[in-house]
Amino acid sequence: MEKRQLLYEGKAKRMYATDDPGLLAVEYKDDATAFNGLKKGSIAGKGVLNNKISAFFFTLLGQHGCDSHFVSLLSEREMLVKKLEIIPVEVVVRNIAAGSLAKRLGLQEGTTLTRPVLEFYYKDDALGDPMVNKYHIYALGLATPAQVGALSAQALQINRILSEFLRERGLILVDFKLEFGVHNGKVLLGDEISPDTCRFWDANTKNKLDKDRFRQDLGGIEEAYQEIYRRITGEISNV
Ligand code: ADP
Ligand code: UDP
Repeated sequence: MEKRQLLYEGKAKRMYATDDPGLLAVEYKDDATAFNGLKKGSIAGKGVLNNKISAFFFTLLGQHGCDSHFVSLLSEREMLVKKLEIIPVEVVVRNIAAGSLAKRLGLQEGTTLTRPVLEFYYKDDALGDPMVNKYHIYALGLATPAQVGALSAQALQINRILSEFLRERGLILVDFKLEFGVHNGKVLLGDEISPDTCRFWDANTKNKLDKDRFRQDLGGIEEAYQEIYRRITGEISNV
């Protein structure tokens, strides 16, 4: 596999073409942004950790029958993925009230939701990723009812698999964001699953081990990402 031209540089990753038109190389950056790009910074070693953590979760999901775009790791910071036609809808799954949900519905952070909540956001930086429902998605032609059905079922299945895996490692999966795309006509999980896109709390101390440490200037950001890597893989990271 040969890495070719840069196709897209986003806030957290660079996407490269490869000599195979069906495959992309993803490079994970140390850059961190929050509040729709208003807060900018860098987290040392984040790219390496998010690459490895995402690869780990994609592999785990695959073992449970939930396929993703992940093909293989290419290097410390890079993975090979199947090229998707990204569905411009960010899918958020929540188990516990935090972040924008706590604020919007006046719930205290940490309130357990009696069942998982699924939310959709229109992926549009200029608009600040507004929340949308199925009617908006169909009216705007962002996805078909069959695609929304498929990605919703996958998102809830992913929540069950990851929540159980993390619970056994002393971690609470508070909420997370997924992106899906179309590959050979099928809806497939894409993007990343990492402390940038999930809220992970220590089950005992309720310590935040994710990007909220950056959003809320809590310090210990690098250590939190390393801790997630250690808990899920059982290995100490060398970054
Ligand atoms: P952003 O675009 O929000 O700044 P990133 O820096 O994470 O985010 O950039 C990665 C981009 O690549 C995102 O726009 C994401 O939707 C897209 N993407 C993720 N996985 C794939 C894939 N397998 N095929 C095509 N595009 C993908
Ligand atoms: N999230 C994300 N990218 C976004 C928005 C949210 O990865 O552009 C994740 C976020 O890390 C959290 C979940 O989705 O795990 C829910 O985020 P929320 O709506 O509470 O928004 P935030 O607090 O990030 O503004």
